[in-house]
Amino acid sequence: MAKQDRKFTKGLHEVGNGCFAYLQPDGSWGWSNAGLVTCGEASLLVDTLFDLKLTAEMLDEMRAACPAAAEIDTLVNTHANGDHCYGNQLVGDAEIITSKATAEEMAEVTPGMMAMLIENADSLGEAGAFFKQVFGMFEFAGIELPPVSRTFEGHLDLQVGDKHLELIEVGPAHTRGDVLIHCVEDRTVFTGDILFIEGTPIMWAGPVENWIRACERIEALDVETVVPGHGPITDKSGPRAVREYLSYIRDEAKLRFDAGLSVNDTIHDIALADYASWGDAERIAVNVDTLFREFRGGAGDPPNPVELFGLMGKIAR
Ligand SMILES: [Zn+2]
Repeated sequence: MAKQDRKFTKGLHEVGNGCFAYLQPDGSWGWSNAGLVTCGEASLLVDTLFDLKLTAEMLDEMRAACPAAAEIDTLVNTHANGDHCYGNQLVGDAEIITSKATAEEMAEVTPGMMAMLIENADSLGEAGAFFKQVFGMFEFAGIELPPVSRTFEGHLDLQVGDKHLELIEVGPAHTRGDVLIHCVEDRTVFTGDILFIEGTPIMWAGPVENWIRACERIEALDVETVVPGHGPITDKSGPRAVREYLSYIRDEAKLRFDAGLSVNDTIHDIALADYASWGDAERIAVNVDTLFREFRGGAGDPPNPVELFGLMGKIAR
């Protein structure tokens, strides 16, 4: 196996045996990772990027590095956030596979809606300003999402040439239908946004215990390479850190919920301690909001993104 290239630099990194990670520093809002698994002529792409330009650039680099990427046979989307699927049309001939819950969520937050929000950001106050600050550099106009070809629930086995891949649905957690892609022979797992490394995880869906279990599931796999949805390539220390963060904010939020504090007061009251060095600390707002919905017995109720972007904007400022 080739020596692993774990530097957090933009572009394609071979993790060994025809398996690649594509990284986009600094891993903040919208700067997601993707992956490529090849065996002989066969190829499977893990996720596309937030817009067509970024995705085209990635595909060019993959084709230059690996002949099997000339035609992508299969695309797996780890979840429905646009930074993992808005480039799908550039591999529209591939079989597109994801969980049933992700396919449903993909149809709800469309690139057209993102384009419209950016266009009208100035009329949305603090929320609009923050939305534009983090997403304004991406190009959402003209993106069409091709239909998903095949969905699954729970578990799906795939072959890429002679390689065996397991798709493991671990959502709802970060989103409603998060999927892990475990490449058995390559001892590698692509986790999508179940892992943010050196950045703050953001829990849109929950429940938190599902996400903690997803981390434990990764820690139990026979893998040496863990490719997160955002941030540098890691190993089993990655899922451990995310699990510890989630347990910490769950416990801290619960103490304040039980004491009758509001979401807003709780967000400002929790000391981030060791986690203050992680990027995008403002995401504590979404995490506490989701935890409070869960504590009230409303797990699975949709968040209010405009309100939350407003709160995050205030914290980030
Ligand atoms: Zn993402």
